[in-house]
Amino acid sequence: MSSALVINSGSSSIKYQLFDDDDNQLLAGVIERVDNHNEAIKQLLETMKAKKSFIEPDVIGHRVVHGGERFSKPSLITKEVLEEITNLIPLAPLHNPGNIAGIEACLQAFPKTPQVAVFDTAFHQTMPASSYRYPINEAIAEQYGIRKYGFHGTSFSFVTEKTAEFLGKNKDEINLVILHLGNGASACAVKNGESFDTSMGLSPLAGLVMGTRSGDIDPAVVFYLNREAGMEISEIDNLLNSESGLRGMAGNSDMRDVMEASLNDRKASEALEVYRHRIVFYLSGFAGLLGEVDAVVLTAGIGENSKQFREFLFEDNPLGIDLDKRLNDSSNAEARTISSETSKIPLLVVPTNEELEIARQSRMASF
Ligand code: ADP
Repeated sequence: MSSALVINSGSSSIKYQLFDDDDNQLLAGVIERVDNHNEAIKQLLETMKAKKSFIEPDVIGHRVVHGGERFSKPSLITKEVLEEITNLIPLAPLHNPGNIAGIEACLQAFPKTPQVAVFDTAFHQTMPASSYRYPINEAIAEQYGIRKYGFHGTSFSFVTEKTAEFLGKNKDEINLVILHLGNGASACAVKNGESFDTSMGLSPLAGLVMGTRSGDIDPAVVFYLNREAGMEISEIDNLLNSESGLRGMAGNSDMRDVMEASLNDRKASEALEVYRHRIVFYLSGFAGLLGEVDAVVLTAGIGENSKQFREFLFEDNPLGIDLDKRLNDSSNAEARTISSETSKIPLLVVPTNEELEIARQSRMASF
């Protein structure tokens, strides 16, 4: 028996999961307040080895947020690949450095084990130019790699596969709009099993309203705040990434708290209206671009768990989608339909599993 170890290394925490060949999760955990990734990986290894269910990993899969245009598939980590991921830091200054620190620490701790980088952006490399191009000066766009990349790719890939299985169709025959609604949130238009468009952009800041990110705003807001409020670019960056979205509007980034507060707090209920408006806007736009939609799929923390939010989201039957209250209320944790038989488009809840997808993709890439 062998296993795959999945590492999601951020700037201050490292999450890990170990899976056996049959996709069973053997171990999982998180190390918080990391300031030395080498020490943290050593600690992680000791913790894992002390457990009865530990099996030596034969591959290690690393989550890497930004793969730019260079990576459209998982890549076996070599010196060159690590250099290329390092060169992408300017595109993901908040994410790639932590990912790289985790890779370097694992290379030291497991020098003989193949290691694979799995990119959040890779799934979206199938987008056509009409989706990914920003209408700005072409030379500048090319020189600086300014285009839509999209994120949450491992989640969209996993959910597309699962949904095809659930619908009993071939993956390359299905069109979906997937709404990944977690703390970070994005929508993806899947055409014939591949990403056709997505709501995040050059960075994860674009698109839907999120826990702490604004999602789409007029870019002129940035110039205006700089000019009129005298805010530095770094302050505006922090404002839009960490102090906006639900937190900015309702004072709390957690959907559970916002839903509860909305019962008697105007700010919270208005924040929910903005949050919903933006989702329905993307959902309708993506459905229009796809023409035919086999299913609308909800996933991640909010999409999977909040029946109250799902009911609120589909209250006005957007696109003729008719949520069935009884099906919506069931607490089944499997892929399931929550729309009525008369719904114009089937509405599904399909739980995502990004770590398992990274384990699977890493195994495939290491052969
Ligand atoms: P991340 O992007 O950090 O991976 P998750 O996918 O875990 O985020 O989603 C976190 C969000 O899911 C939070 O807003 C949280 O409130 C929400 N959430 C999780 N469980 C529930 C629940 N039972 N009801 C409502 N919201 C929930």
